[in-house]
Amino acid sequence: MLNKNRDVSKKILYGWLLFLTLGIVLTWLTSHWVGVSTALELRQVAKERLSLYQGTLTGALEKYRYLPFVLSGNEDIKQLLTTSRSDPYFSNTVSRSLSATNNKAESNVLYVMDNKGNTLASSNWKDINSFVGHNYSFRPYFLDAMQGKEGRFFAIGIASGIPGFYMSHPVYEKEGIVGVVIVKVNLAPLQRQWRDGGETVFISDENSVIFLSSRDDWLYKTLNPITSERMKQIKSVRQYGNSSLEQLTYKSAKFAGEKIIEINKRKYLETTWIITNQRWNLHYLFPVDLIKERQRTTIAIGSVLLITIFVAALFIRERRQKQISSRRALESEKIQAINQQLEVEIVERRRTEKELRSAQDGLVQAGKLAALGQMSAAIAHEINQPIAAMRTFVASARLLLQKGKIEELDISLQNVTSLTERMGAITGQLKTFARKAPSKLEHVEIMQAISRAIALVQPLLDSGNVVLTIMPPKHLLFVEGDEVRLEQVFINLLRNAIDAMEHIDKKRLEIFVEEKDSNVVIRVRDNGTGLNDTVINQLYDPFFTTKINNEGLGLGLSITYGIVKDLTGHIEATNNAVGGAEFLITFPSSNKPTD
Ligand code: ADP
Repeated sequence: MLNKNRDVSKKILYGWLLFLTLGIVLTWLTSHWVGVSTALELRQVAKERLSLYQGTLTGALEKYRYLPFVLSGNEDIKQLLTTSRSDPYFSNTVSRSLSATNNKAESNVLYVMDNKGNTLASSNWKDINSFVGHNYSFRPYFLDAMQGKEGRFFAIGIASGIPGFYMSHPVYEKEGIVGVVIVKVNLAPLQRQWRDGGETVFISDENSVIFLSSRDDWLYKTLNPITSERMKQIKSVRQYGNSSLEQLTYKSAKFAGEKIIEINKRKYLETTWIITNQRWNLHYLFPVDLIKERQRTTIAIGSVLLITIFVAALFIRERRQKQISSRRALESEKIQAINQQLEVEIVERRRTEKELRSAQDGLVQAGKLAALGQMSAAIAHEINQPIAAMRTFVASARLLLQKGKIEELDISLQNVTSLTERMGAITGQLKTFARKAPSKLEHVEIMQAISRAIALVQPLLDSGNVVLTIMPPKHLLFVEGDEVRLEQVFINLLRNAIDAMEHIDKKRLEIFVEEKDSNVVIRVRDNGTGLNDTVINQLYDPFFTTKINNEGLGLGLSITYGIVKDLTGHIEATNNAVGGAEFLITFPSSNKPTD
């Protein structure tokens, strides 16, 4: 029972461990899936945002693209670059015109350079930072235009310090390229717009330098290290003014199965867009925290669910345990009540048993006395006859003595002796019968008990002319009991049989003794009146008798029954097929005594 309980609780523990492991694995898988799907979702959003940012950038630049081209065909500018190069008055006129156009177009600066890189006219000719008179021949947009190409270049203004995008176009005359027209677009408003948008977006150029960013602290920082040669080149064109172009702490990492980047120890989901005609990269970053937050929420929900299930199961188990224990308590109360009742019944039974036993003992004793009483009549009859005979023998002995017939006298005296011996035998039997049964049992040879019983009823057998047949066993059979009581059993059966055959002519009494299945079986059969239904039903009831004129006490069979049961035997009465009754008694065989 204890082992079974231990097995059950082990099984429950394993079940819980399995449930917890599955729960944890499931929660982890779900959080991973949430991470991946959030990353995919964010990437999709990022692509849309990038497209938007790219659109605003291109829009901001493209609207000025045609300005240098249009101005390169302006006759005044052409004249300034050819015939009126050293005419300051004409230069001012062109500058004024450029200023007007610049204001109208809302560009930052419009200016004209000769083929040596000297600025001849500029929209900011009146400003303190006027470009007029400065030489920018080192700027790539000048060099590109001098090669007949459209120049495009991002740089920090040398004179103004304002970052801007420069677009240039060559001015052609018959003799070739005579100068370059340039428009500078201020990107500061766009950057402000990006910063105010609250998102993380930036552009890096072909050298991986961030030159436009929603984050000011990342401006003019590089994503990848720049070779010294390249750095020299950048410095020579003074693209980023005096910026030292430090490298950001930037590296690639992986998160929720997605490639992400880490800048200054913070992780971002990065989506890039290549702006091909500028060889720029537009970057859009989503902080990974957003993904982590969703994953944490998933884990929290999973944990709460697990804990809830666990607590609910514990609660249900507790309740069930309580129900079981209260049911058990109820059952044990019932059992206790039954036990108490049983105890009472046992006490009662013992008391009844004791009473019965003493009653039975009394009955045995009473039965014996009754039997003795009845027997004494027969015995008196038996003894009276020898006494009468003895009287006759003694009287004739005296006569023989007077006559001196000594020899005949001796015969007479011998007869007297044998008569007294017979009387002694009868009284001896009576003594045995009157004794109370001993409490200690012994091995009794069954035929000996039967023989003694027969000896005791012999006068009745003789007077009734009963033919007695005995079929003894093949060898000695023993039963455990006491001789006196066993004798009494057979005396009762024999006496009843003799009584039942009272009015029968040829009285036959048969006794069979044999061993069957480790039992000693005794059958006492007569050819008397037999047993009718009324008799059979009350046979063993005390004081049941059919014998009239106070001949029977109705105790014989009841005492017999008690003795047989006492000796763990069995008694059964049936009718013979040919008439008469048969009593079958069975006792367990006992081992033959060793002495
Ligand atoms: P009692 O002999 O004093 O009547 P018992 O208890 O010995 O008391 O017998 C009860 C009754 O059983 C008898 O009165 C008799 O009617 C019946 N009985 C017993 N043995 C026999 C038998 N062998 N044949 C017919 N009747 C019997």
